[in-house]
Amino acid sequence: MSKLTPHIKSQSLTALEAWLAEHGHKPYRAKQICEWVWKHQVKDYDEMLNIPLALREALRADFSLEHLEVAEVNGAKDTTQKFLFKLEDGRFVESVLIPANIGKGGVQSSRQTLCVSSQVGCAYGCKFCASGLLGLTRNLTTAEIVQQIVQAQNHSGKRIDNLVFMGMGEPMANLPNVLQALDIITHPWMIGIGARHITLSTSGLAPQVKKLAMYPQQVRLAISLHGATDEVREQIMPVNKKWKLEELFESLDVWVEHKKQRLTFEYILIKGINDDLEQAKLLAKHANRFGAKVNLIPYNTVEGLEWERPAMSHCQKFQREVIAGGVTTTLRIEKGHDINAACGQLRLRKEQSLS
Ligand code: SAH
Ligand code: SF4
Repeated sequence: MSKLTPHIKSQSLTALEAWLAEHGHKPYRAKQICEWVWKHQVKDYDEMLNIPLALREALRADFSLEHLEVAEVNGAKDTTQKFLFKLEDGRFVESVLIPANIGKGGVQSSRQTLCVSSQVGCAYGCKFCASGLLGLTRNLTTAEIVQQIVQAQNHSGKRIDNLVFMGMGEPMANLPNVLQALDIITHPWMIGIGARHITLSTSGLAPQVKKLAMYPQQVRLAISLHGATDEVREQIMPVNKKWKLEELFESLDVWVEHKKQRLTFEYILIKGINDDLEQAKLLAKHANRFGAKVNLIPYNTVEGLEWERPAMSHCQKFQREVIAGGVTTTLRIEKGHDINAACGQLRLRKEQSLS
């Protein structure tokens, strides 16, 4: 089957219904096909017992049904699991499954969060990030995005109910495929994760933020800020040369106008670079402008990079300063550090060793 053949798991319900109509089949077949594809996870069209042969053959001719190959699964002590997927062209991407206990109103609930990749590598070259080190290889297809979730569920036996686009790549630079994936991920016949439990993280592609604001579902947005002035941000994020803070903030005005969910500002703390308390004050000011909350992340060591994380006592001081500015602020204690699965550590080791 040609590489260009679309995957059945890249078809939204609307697309599948249109295809059925074009091929002279009744619309109710869409639900039956979805059950085989998503619920039973069939590996061959012949397993679709209530689908007539002619329709099965037409599906086979037009859509691939290959499962995404799981090349490796690594578990960490804190039960964070990293999945390494081998793509059809031999490239690799990773997803990380992070179980979390969240205490809500005194009741402990267990959430399974999956951190998914949106590209192989990344073009934006942030100076602290492992994914950015090698540049961009290619966008992931819609099917490759959604199948990370399917396969992580299959292999862990856990239902994923929270999704973050914080793995490899910049989701806003692959927006058409990401939006198509969102239609599939949120549909109850397909993956069925509620839009409010899905967060897209971006380094600040302002025009794409405006586009995403028009997407009808209430997904969440996290902005990788990492600097509260252009000067500080530009040292570590080349993307800031293209879209300055004020331009990014204008796109967030549009976002806030259209979306009910609270924004998050992600802020990595790097010793001596962006951890000055002046930055904390300005960060609080920016967060207040949008009613955003702040997530502080002590920098994770990346092999080959010489940045350092500040002392925990300094991170806490920085946090107190942002809180003093009236902003809800968390200081992240990373999970998965011991398997290089913490955010920013996803890297194409396999691919490197092959090339
Ligand atoms: N490209 C998108 C999404 C992927 S990066 C973005 O930049 O938002 C996901 C998150 O991991 C971002 O907040 C990113 O800044 C963070 N990250 C990257 N490298 C890191 C590191 N070394 N330590 C801690 N967080 C890191
Ligand atoms: Fe790309 Fe995000 Fe890494 Fe920056 S932090 S290089 S945008 S993946």
